[in-house]
Amino acid sequence: MCVLFIVLGVIIVLFLLYLIQVKKVNKGRQRAEEVYRNTVIPKFEDKGSLKKLSILPLIDSKSLNDDFRTENGVSYFASADDKNILLDLGFNRKKEHPSPLLWNMEKLGKSFKNIDFLVFSHAHLDHLGGMKEHKTKTFSISQGVTETGDIKVYAPVPLKASAFNPQLSNITVSKEPTVIMPGVYTIGCIPRHLFLMGNTEEQSLAFRIEGKGIVLLIGCGHQTIQRIIERTKMLFDEKIYAIFGGLHLPILNKGNVSLLSLVQYAVGSDYAPHQGLSRKDVYDAIESIKAENPKYVGISPHDSSDFSINAFKKAFGDKYVDINVGQVINL
Ligand SMILES: [Zn+2]
Ligand SMILES: [Zn+2]
Repeated sequence: MCVLFIVLGVIIVLFLLYLIQVKKVNKGRQRAEEVYRNTVIPKFEDKGSLKKLSILPLIDSKSLNDDFRTENGVSYFASADDKNILLDLGFNRKKEHPSPLLWNMEKLGKSFKNIDFLVFSHAHLDHLGGMKEHKTKTFSISQGVTETGDIKVYAPVPLKASAFNPQLSNITVSKEPTVIMPGVYTIGCIPRHLFLMGNTEEQSLAFRIEGKGIVLLIGCGHQTIQRIIERTKMLFDEKIYAIFGGLHLPILNKGNVSLLSLVQYAVGSDYAPHQGLSRKDVYDAIESIKAENPKYVGISPHDSSDFSINAFKKAFGDKYVDINVGQVINL
């Protein structure tokens, strides 16, 4: 009888906590919505554009072959004319040195000495280089000293370089859309209040390629692709040429539920975990991208699932490009 009362008590407490969380999330959602709607976004005056662009995934959860380390995070290397830009630093969940990022860079002949700009999409653990980094609002390339060149850092929220890379202190908080160099931009923060992770400010990279249009490179896509597209169209006159990166679509496959998709499903959207993302979210994302008729589309496996990737492959056919560590995408 006593055990029954304890169990009942625990259930009631959990239910009350859940109701408090729902109230908090609803308030946060409302605030994020207001911020988004009230942000005035003028078109970029800078008309610079790139002659060539290539994107090389350095960290993601799938790779071209077994030579590379994979993990549930993101780091994408972009070569834009004569400059190199890195979006995010991966996860380094096991706190290694060299990190999986450095390991893969070495395999691919890339070095931090040749990186000009480091851009963070958002301040989550799988993009800042670790759990501790997420908690302390810092970032690490690896859990040991790494030599770098003179790198300019852009982050959507205030961040500090960790003790392993104190030289990376030239940090700009790019809350608003920002010109990184002619032809390379951030589209500015789009806030979203996630059910368990709270308010998340995320930005994406946009590249303008001469005669082709805008290439979007996205970290986790918590903003939703619909809003990323909407923001891009406010900033640029050119059409969207390509969309790559995380769109946060970890739909659970029946009978094949990976721990990765379960965690992403539970914590990474503004739905309550029992409601979760649905197939409709995947089809809605596909429709919104199709309306722009881009030439190439590829979604990050780190925050999607086989169901979502297959749905995109089916919808985009030849236009679909796999995102694999070590597989360069020339644009
Ligand atoms: Zn995230
Ligand atoms: Zn992520």
